[in-house]
Amino acid sequence: MAAVTYSYDAPVSQSLFDRAAAVTPGGVNSPVRAFRAVGGTPRFMVSGTGPYLMDADGREYVDLVCSWGPMILGHAHPEVTAAVQGAVSRGTSFGTPAEDEVALAEEIVARIPPVEQVRLVSSGTEATMSAIRLARGFTGRTKVVKFAGCYHGHVDALLAAAGSGVATFALPDTPGVTGAQAGDTLVLPYNDLEAVRAAFAAHPGEIACVITEASPGNMGVVPPREGFNEGLRDLCREHGALFVSDEVMTGFRVSRQGWYGLDGVRPDLMTFGKVMGGGFPVAAFGGRRDVMEHLAPAGPVYQAGTLSGNPVATAAGLAQLRLLDDEAYATVDAVSERLRGLVTEALDKEGVAHRLQTAGNMFSVFFTEEPVTDYAGARAQQGFRFTAFFHSMLAQGVYLPPSAFESWFVSTAHDERAVERIAAALPAAARAAAEATEEDAA
Ligand SMILES: *Cc1c(COP(=O)(O)O)cnc(C)c1O
Repeated sequence: MAAVTYSYDAPVSQSLFDRAAAVTPGGVNSPVRAFRAVGGTPRFMVSGTGPYLMDADGREYVDLVCSWGPMILGHAHPEVTAAVQGAVSRGTSFGTPAEDEVALAEEIVARIPPVEQVRLVSSGTEATMSAIRLARGFTGRTKVVKFAGCYHGHVDALLAAAGSGVATFALPDTPGVTGAQAGDTLVLPYNDLEAVRAAFAAHPGEIACVITEASPGNMGVVPPREGFNEGLRDLCREHGALFVSDEVMTGFRVSRQGWYGLDGVRPDLMTFGKVMGGGFPVAAFGGRRDVMEHLAPAGPVYQAGTLSGNPVATAAGLAQLRLLDDEAYATVDAVSERLRGLVTEALDKEGVAHRLQTAGNMFSVFFTEEPVTDYAGARAQQGFRFTAFFHSMLAQGVYLPPSAFESWFVSTAHDERAVERIAAALPAAARAAAEATEEDAA
């Protein structure tokens, strides 16, 4: 096969991208959007309806990114849109408390028993950053354990991911993060309880918390081994550290109660975002009342935000959560299961070595023979096959995450017509993956 060529063009997106690159670093406001991992022109979207996105060149796509998770009811859901319009017409920010904030907090507390109190913020990054600060303030300790391949937003102390070996001090992974900021972060291999045990033994009385994605979706989908989260909770308890479960991605997505609803392991603190905002910037952290009461103004740990609990954002989140009943999750689960079957069938037919990994209704494909249980395994996949697969799907009107290290997301709006369009695109994409060579991607 000839080198991968992106024979379809996107002239309007390309000209917008050129304009963007002149005034914005890399032409985007969040790096993965730039298509650097797969090459080609990022598509500029102009509208979304249900399971579809429309780009600036007038091409329609079935969307399997769903804004990286939030759009679990599809784009422009009429009831969410109406709630937003109602809120906008009443004023867009007060800088005072308002009832919808209370209602949204009550909805979260009612759904998720480990969350006794919750504080609203504006992004997942803010939620994890604040949870870490609170854990340190509560315990009076400095060190934080995180796992390689887990993403918790662009928090300085949590960007460190390059640790190899047990309980080594992580070096900053990005310029701009100082050794002091990253030096209190211990990066351990995911799914490795022995490494956590060793870290506690090496740093007695120093570890404030262990933070983990409840079920990681930011290195592709790599679910926790049986007993892993439970083991983390037990080790934290034994050593007086807090167990922080980051459910920014899984929360309100994989069940009414997020990942907690699937494994029932009780964290001390939890973080949320994405789905709970209904497409608006609203996120949260919450958990044990005695811990949360250390936050200002109830307690000494400072945390604040001009637009925290914004009335438009909370109206959107509340409308979305109220529509997410058991039936909605059953629909999303069924769509996910159906797509997983179609993807596996297409790749098997072309003899493409792959692992389709699942966590609730989240899933992703690794182009490798081995089950992926950690970041090292995720990086060992044949990324060039994903690139070929991605571009074939894109050319056929299916929008996948432009990276092999991301979960695919579906919504209640992915109906038969949308699924059929994906099914029709899969055979050629599987063939492209089968025929791809390492040189194509170079
Ligand atoms: C997306 C994500 C974040 C960061 O949320 P932002 O709103 O992008 O800041 C944190 N943790 C996890 C698990 C995520 O998936």
